Amino acid sequence: MSERRRKSSPEARRGKVVALCGGVGGAKLALGLDRVLPAGDLLLVCNTGDDFEHLGLHVSPDLDTVMYTLAGLANPETGWGRRDESWAFMRALEALGGESWFRLGDGDLATHVERTRRLGAGESLTAITAHFARRLGLASALLPMSDAPVRTMVETSEGTLPFQHYFVRLRCGPAVRRIRFDGAESAPPNPALLSALAAADLALVVICPSNPYLSIDPILALPGLRAALADCAAPVVAVSPLIAGKAVKGPAAKIMAELGIPQTQAAIARHYDGLIDGLVLDEADAAEARNLPIPVAVTRTLMQSLDDRVALARRVLEFGIRLDARKGGAR
Ligand code: GDP
Ligand code: CA
Repeated sequence: MSERRRKSSPEARRGKVVALCGGVGGAKLALGLDRVLPAGDLLLVCNTGDDFEHLGLHVSPDLDTVMYTLAGLANPETGWGRRDESWAFMRALEALGGESWFRLGDGDLATHVERTRRLGAGESLTAITAHFARRLGLASALLPMSDAPVRTMVETSEGTLPFQHYFVRLRCGPAVRRIRFDGAESAPPNPALLSALAAADLALVVICPSNPYLSIDPILALPGLRAALADCAAPVVAVSPLIAGKAVKGPAAKIMAELGIPQTQAAIARHYDGLIDGLVLDEADAAEARNLPIPVAVTRTLMQSLDDRVALARRVLEFGIRLDARKGGAR
């Protein structure tokens, strides 16, 4: 790992925050950060390994989850899709015998149709995402991890499955043997992400409590991104998606078991070894926190209400400031 440069001046404590995230879990903390930080200070970088072509449309599930969440349009029950959604399209499609395992609400459909049209007209996913974010009034910047296609493929007990077939159609049932990110090796990281990581005004990088294997690893698989993170002048902090050995939602703990990884905070810390300067974990894991080889912040990490999201965002930012002072001061 390359040597880390640290800023020691107090001004370094303010500035831009980059957050890496997937969908539902990531979006919760993204919302907290968005509410706490001054407008324009947050750059959210989303996994696009889950993107796929469906019914002729380009669907970007994680980007959309974060976008709807920040725009106040998210469905509070599911965490994905839009609130107050109607389903006439889906019913009509089913009546025609069309594929109905992936649910697309009527309002949501407009996002995919318009994204697909713009991609076809030659716009980049970055430009389209920025346009949607502006139209929906987002205060934070939202970026796909790359404009080049990356497709997460899950090698399972039932064969190799495109991500959405594993996740949605088969509800994460098959045992995972290996996860691949097809195309990642030749997908340039979003240039805006690389310049944010190299910029003098970077205050903190947050790895949201997204699924490390399915949502964060695709981002880390982009060429040069690990090095850019390791070299960046600001602290890098991860928030654990596990609470007392269980995922709050989704297959993270199940996948860890299937891959022979213990479902512990130590395993999460190890997963991000060489990249993070600190780990934020839940009070339920306070005992384990004492034995971790990196700085930790112990707090409530379960985000049920908006207040929970905001409180956790504040804790993460405070922890970042402490780490920055520590590292900077040691130099
Ligand atoms: P997906 O792309 O929709 O699957 O969402 P993410 O990968 O961003 O988030 C899934 C992860 O978020 C799971 O591993 C959950 O354990 C985690 N998660 C969801 N809600 C919470 C929460 O309130 N607190 C914490 N710490 N993790 C959460
Ligand atoms: Ca996802």
